[in-house]
Amino acid sequence: MLQWGDERTDFLAKSATEKDLIDVEFFQSARQLRNASNQNIRENWQARWSDSRKGIWEKTFYEKVDTKRICGVFYFNQVLTGHGVFGSFQASMFGKPTECQCGQSIESVSHVILECELWRDLRSEWPKSWKNKDLKELVPVHEFRSQASAIV
Ligand SMILES: [Zn+2]
Repeated sequence: MLQWGDERTDFLAKSATEKDLIDVEFFQSARQLRNASNQNIRENWQARWSDSRKGIWEKTFYEKVDTKRICGVFYFNQVLTGHGVFGSFQASMFGKPTECQCGQSIESVSHVILECELWRDLRSEWPKSWKNKDLKELVPVHEFRSQASAIV
């Protein structure tokens, strides 16, 4: 049994569907605004990251920006950033020699971690599947991170 209020509700609902203009417009919720804002921030961050001439070494490993923490290990962060103990970095920042103690003319991150004879023993236990891979392929491997940290 319909009450007067129900009939009135039906009448208003039907008449609302026949209108050409919208009487009431709902705005975005706080969550929608926050999500849109966060997406805008990520897009701007990505554009700045992609366009920047800085961080070329880091971009080798991370093309996309992300809010997840990359790594919290002091020694492995030196591999990821190219900063720290490596002769190539020490030379560019402090004018120190670029040579490696093994005699290689440039002590780069790749040289120290993957090639240097001084650290061959530390690499002797590495899986064979790592042998022909470069740093970009190895960095995501969790076990590699601790092995590389040991070398640094
Ligand atoms: Zn060396």
